[in-house]
Amino acid sequence: MQAETIWMDGEHVPWSEARVHVLSHALHYGTAVLEGTRAYGTPEGSAVFRLDEHLERLFRSAKIIGLAIPYSPAQLRAATLETVAANGLTSCYIRHLVHRGYGELGIAARTCPTVVTVAAWEWGALLGEEGLRLMTSSWRRNDPAVVPTAAKATGPYLNSVIAKAEALDAGYDEAVLLNAAGYVSECTGANVFVVSDGTLSTPPSSAGALEGITQDTVEQLAADLGVPVRRRDLLRTDLYTADEMFVCGTAAGIVPVQSVDNRELGAAGPVTAKLTAAYEAAVHGRDERYRHWLTPVAAA
Ligand code: PMP
Repeated sequence: MQAETIWMDGEHVPWSEARVHVLSHALHYGTAVLEGTRAYGTPEGSAVFRLDEHLERLFRSAKIIGLAIPYSPAQLRAATLETVAANGLTSCYIRHLVHRGYGELGIAARTCPTVVTVAAWEWGALLGEEGLRLMTSSWRRNDPAVVPTAAKATGPYLNSVIAKAEALDAGYDEAVLLNAAGYVSECTGANVFVVSDGTLSTPPSSAGALEGITQDTVEQLAADLGVPVRRRDLLRTDLYTADEMFVCGTAAGIVPVQSVDNRELGAAGPVTAKLTAAYEAAVHGRDERYRHWLTPVAAA
C-alpha cells in the first residue's frame, strides 16, 4: 500500500513524509471523519465513481460531529482528482480524512487545527470475491443514541475493528452486527442485502447502518432491472433463510455471502449475479445510463 504523494492541506507531500503529531486530538479521541471512494478504468481513462456523493457525505459527517472543513466541496473535488492524477493511478482507492489536529488535548479542544488529507493508492477488493462466511458478532452495532451512526467518523470504527477481529479469530471472513434491538445493522465496512422471494431488502439507516453509497447504487440498479427493493428491519433469522445474500461497499464492491453462522446459503444467486454485472458496467463506464456517476480524472 503506497503511492507517491498525499494531498495535505493543499500540498502534495511525499507519501513517507505525510505525518502527524502523536498528540493530535483525533488520535486520542477519534475526532475525524473519513470517506472511502474509488476510481476505475473506463473507456475514457480513469474516473471517480460518485465523487460528489462521497464529498457530500464527508461534509455531512463533519457537520454532525462539529468539525468545520476549511475547504469548499469544489476545492476537495479538485484535490481528489489531482491526487489520483499526480500519482499516475487509474484504478485506485481514495481516502479522505478530516481530523482534529495537534493543539490542546482537552476533550473540547476547539482551538485545534482541522487537517484535511486525500490519499490514493491501488487496493484490491477488501473482502475478496469469493462467498463470505459471516458470523453474527457478539458485539452490538453502535447505537445512534450513543454515537452518531449517520456520520462516517473514525471513533465509532472501534466497534467494527473489534467485531472484525472476533470474526477472524473465530475462523470466519467477516462479522454482521445486530443493533441493540436485535435487528440486523450491517457488516464492519459494508451494507447487507438479502433476496427473499425475488425481493431485495436492506436494513434502514435507523438500524445503525451507514447510508452506503453502494447501497444506494444497488437500489437504483435493482429498480432499473425491475427487481423490487425495500428498506426494512431484518432479523438474524431472515439472513439464515434468505434465498441470496450479499454485502456491498466501495472498498468491497458486491460480494456474495456463502453462509451466516454456518447456515449455508450457497453460491452467488441469479439476482446477486445480475446486480454485480450491472455494478461493474456502471463503475467502468460501460453503461451510458450511469455515466453521470463518473467524474473523469483527466479533467483535473
Ligand atoms: N458500512 C460501513 C460501516 C462502512 O464502513 C462502509 C464503507 N464506507 C459501508 C457501510 C459502505 O458504504 P459505501 O458504499 O458508501 O462505501
